[in-house]
Amino acid sequence: MDKLQAYLKNELDSLRARGVFHLPRVLETEQKATVVIDGREVITLSSNNYLGLTVHPRLREAAIKAIEQYGVGSGSVRTIAGTMTLHNVLEEKLAKFKHTEASLTIQSGYATNLGVISAVMQEGDMIISDELNHASIIDGIRLCKSPRKVFPHKDMAGLRRVLEESKGANKVMVVTDGVFSMDGDIAPLPEIVALAGEYGAFVMVDDAHSSGVLGRNGRGSVSHFGLDGRVALQIGTLSKGIGALGGYVACSQDMRDFLLQRARPVLFSTSHPPSVVATCIAALDILEEDTSLVERLWENTAFFKRGLEQLGFNTGKSETPITPVIVGEGALAMQFSQRLFSEGVFAQGIVFPTVPADKCRVRTIVTAIHTREELAKALDIFERVGKELSII
Ligand SMILES: *Cc1c(COP(=O)(O)O)cnc(C)c1O
Repeated sequence: MDKLQAYLKNELDSLRARGVFHLPRVLETEQKATVVIDGREVITLSSNNYLGLTVHPRLREAAIKAIEQYGVGSGSVRTIAGTMTLHNVLEEKLAKFKHTEASLTIQSGYATNLGVISAVMQEGDMIISDELNHASIIDGIRLCKSPRKVFPHKDMAGLRRVLEESKGANKVMVVTDGVFSMDGDIAPLPEIVALAGEYGAFVMVDDAHSSGVLGRNGRGSVSHFGLDGRVALQIGTLSKGIGALGGYVACSQDMRDFLLQRARPVLFSTSHPPSVVATCIAALDILEEDTSLVERLWENTAFFKRGLEQLGFNTGKSETPITPVIVGEGALAMQFSQRLFSEGVFAQGIVFPTVPADKCRVRTIVTAIHTREELAKALDIFERVGKELSII
């Protein structure tokens, strides 16, 4: 056996032996509240389609029209020939939506974190990161030469200590998720902004799970806390609540101009096809015009979370539509998820190392397009399977 084959076999065997080898389930329908996955009809509580925009008629129509008018690809990276009028229209709308001078879209939220952090932070600087920040923030930090320090999750005394230790650095950036994806808790942004200000640091917030969810019309965590103008870099995604694909940074005009020179995903990877851009423009128009989807999302969240709590499940510290159902050990979480699926609910099991080994869970995300009937039925199934496995 050659070395490559031996390596792959070894890695795969080890994953299988630890019971964490996993192939994705396959979705056979569009991404709605009730879907067909692996041949079975289930209520899904596993998508990030918070507002149901992946299947919204206005977005479909916008995508089709853009394809008819502009074709299916942009044909180039942004900085050579791949900036179309549509890209600029979307970025102006995003800046207006986020109350910032400017914005820049990048292929995905993941690429945005990589591109922005590695362009902005240099040797001699300091990056200060919450220990539970998303992998794309961690990878962005790994790509740059700046030193980094981690503070305990949401621990403001810990953050102060690290800021104190970083006084000799040139630029200091404090970076946090707006909403944390495994627990659904919200970053204490007012305290972070105040502390950063005290030490002359600037703040970057990753609003992937807050875009279209938190704040007025779904503007994100900065709007939620009334911190307009006080956060240098607001990262968002167009792939979750907004329903299509992409990432963006809402920032100053100088920052946008700088990133157009230096952010590597902008320089070296092709820009969004016109259909994706047009879809996102339509999504922002809907958010600006109509708050009913965001309201519906929060009503459904309150209903489902209350239901789980009344059944006696441990839902942790969630404050958002992400509600974990914490069961303890990994094998039980996977069995729970499997039994839920057989009974008609898709809620992904999440185990170590993504979460602590004694806090394994299934994670649920409700959306604005779940009906009350679907959520009530999902609660019935949670009750039945929870009792069967002695979780409640
Ligand atoms: C999902 C997610 C991303 C990645 O966004 P994509 O647009 O899917 O690449 C980045 N940061 C956080 C916190 C996320 O949850």
